[in-house]
Amino acid sequence: MRKVNFFQSIHLKFVLIYVLLIALAMQIIGVYFVRELEETLIDNFKNSVVDRLDPLEYTVAQEISSSLSGNRSEDEPTLQQSIRQLLGGLNSEDIEEVQIIDTRSRILGTSDDSNQAIVGQRTTSNDQVQEILSNDTDLQQEETYMDQGNRVWVLAQPIITDQGETIGVIWVKSQIENVYEQMDEINEILAGGTAISLVITAILGVLLAQTITRPIAAMRSHAVDMAKGNFSRKVKVYGHDEIGQLAITFNNLTKRLQEARATTEAERRKLSSVLSYMTDGVIATDRRGRVILINDPAAAMLNVSRETVLSMSLPEVLGIEEEYSVDDLSTQTDSLILNFGTDAKPYILRANFSVIQKETGFVNGLITVLHDITEQEKIDAERREFVANVSHELRTPLTTMRSYLEALSEGAWQDQEIAPHFLEVTQTETERMIRLVNDLLQLSKMDSRDYRLNKEFVNFINFYQRIIDRFDMGRSQNVTFKTKLPQEPVYVEIDTDKMTQVLDNIISNALKYSPEGGQIRFKVELKEREKEMVVSVSDQGVGIPRENLKNIFERFYRVDKARTRQLGGTGLGLAIAKEMITAHEGRIWASSVEGRGTTIYFTLPYDPTSEDEWS
Ligand code: ADP
Repeated sequence: MRKVNFFQSIHLKFVLIYVLLIALAMQIIGVYFVRELEETLIDNFKNSVVDRLDPLEYTVAQEISSSLSGNRSEDEPTLQQSIRQLLGGLNSEDIEEVQIIDTRSRILGTSDDSNQAIVGQRTTSNDQVQEILSNDTDLQQEETYMDQGNRVWVLAQPIITDQGETIGVIWVKSQIENVYEQMDEINEILAGGTAISLVITAILGVLLAQTITRPIAAMRSHAVDMAKGNFSRKVKVYGHDEIGQLAITFNNLTKRLQEARATTEAERRKLSSVLSYMTDGVIATDRRGRVILINDPAAAMLNVSRETVLSMSLPEVLGIEEEYSVDDLSTQTDSLILNFGTDAKPYILRANFSVIQKETGFVNGLITVLHDITEQEKIDAERREFVANVSHELRTPLTTMRSYLEALSEGAWQDQEIAPHFLEVTQTETERMIRLVNDLLQLSKMDSRDYRLNKEFVNFINFYQRIIDRFDMGRSQNVTFKTKLPQEPVYVEIDTDKMTQVLDNIISNALKYSPEGGQIRFKVELKEREKEMVVSVSDQGVGIPRENLKNIFERFYRVDKARTRQLGGTGLGLAIAKEMITAHEGRIWASSVEGRGTTIYFTLPYDPTSEDEWS
């Protein structure tokens, strides 16, 4: 978690706001208080001075009046002497000097003992006194000024008789500096108080900020944990204020988120198991066509690894980037056939595309479903080929018969020599058709699901021998039979009817392709280790070219079409044999040397241990 820079922290903001508020309040209070106090103190000072002057003024006025009226007796002290007396002892801490000046600007007396020389002299430099005397005003004149670094306050007050006549001026010089010193002290106290309250405010601010930041910091670390997927923690609720409410809401939110996440996770798991267990391949892309999801079947179908295709473009993954763009695929409504097969190994996929759209119509991505249709295509192709083959096989004898019957109806029936031959041909063709239809019925029966073998335990040696004997008796060609069969009985579980048909087909082929004087060898070999019995029929006939060997068990496959048809074959004999042997859990194959002969082998499972029970 990144730490919050101190200069951006709520702590600092709180402290700053508090300190500034207190400083501002103190400032406003201070200015107002100091100004008021200063005014009051100065007024008090001035009043106290004036109060002390008032009785002086009265007596001085008496003295001057009596002196002016000239009724002062000889033994009485002079005016100056009596004024001196009046002024004596007037000096105090705040009153520095008091002067009495008459209307002619002559100093009648001063309270300053050291300055008695000026008594009787005229004063002209004293502005306030001059102001009163020259303007004959009865108003007080005052001034505050600096004198040797100290503030002094001078007051000139006219001495007025009861008749309203100005007869002199009292001039006072007082030390007002004391008042200002007092003010300075008060200011210092105020500043000290402000400083202390600011410090206390700062500390309180830090503490208060902590009560807010602590739960916020807890919620923040909780949110970080939540982002990492840890929903188990809970935020501590410190109180029921707004932050407490926020913490409760936060805890609720955590719970909801946890539930939502669990649901999403469950959905995701469900979806992923559906995707991985479905047989179809699914590929999802984002809106730019880049693969964001591919399930295992899709990866297997396209033979790619999930890691390599993720974020590759869809047409590229499907190998169709030259023909189609992502836009083409998103508008592709029909399914697309992707042929990945070779001649040797067909492999065809069908791809269907659907667009993931928001309600607004905004395309969010593309879903591709892949389906392996190789088998289906193969079955379809086989079915088409089969129908074509059947039609062809039936048309050939029918055409032959029609031409013969036409010839007969056109008069050949009257020909004693030709007519029997023609009728024989139509009969042979009819029989071949019946054989063909029977074979087809047989195959279709085996193709159907409810095809069942009617198995029973028989001694295969006896069974085989009887079939060989039947052929031996009925043969018309000059072919010799040679058998090499085990002496002891071999018991196998077979459907005797079906197995008879298998051997009939193989032996009749051997006879069909054997030359005059040829030999047919019948053999049974026991392979105890493999628990199987190998039955083989070998002839010395034309043989089968190597490249055709693997095809002879296919339906309607003939090596030499013209000749086999001539020999009455339907092309289904070995196909039926193969189906039947497979149903008996055996294998069938052929080996041949062209011009020298062919051997058809098949195996049947047998259990050597059960031999004793049957013998
Ligand atoms: P058909 O009824 O035409 O003989 P089969 O399915 O029995 O059909 O045989 C398929 C083809 O395999 C034959 O057309 C023939 O070309 C070839 N074939 C089968 N057996 C032999 C054999 N013993 N010797 C030579 N070719 C054979």
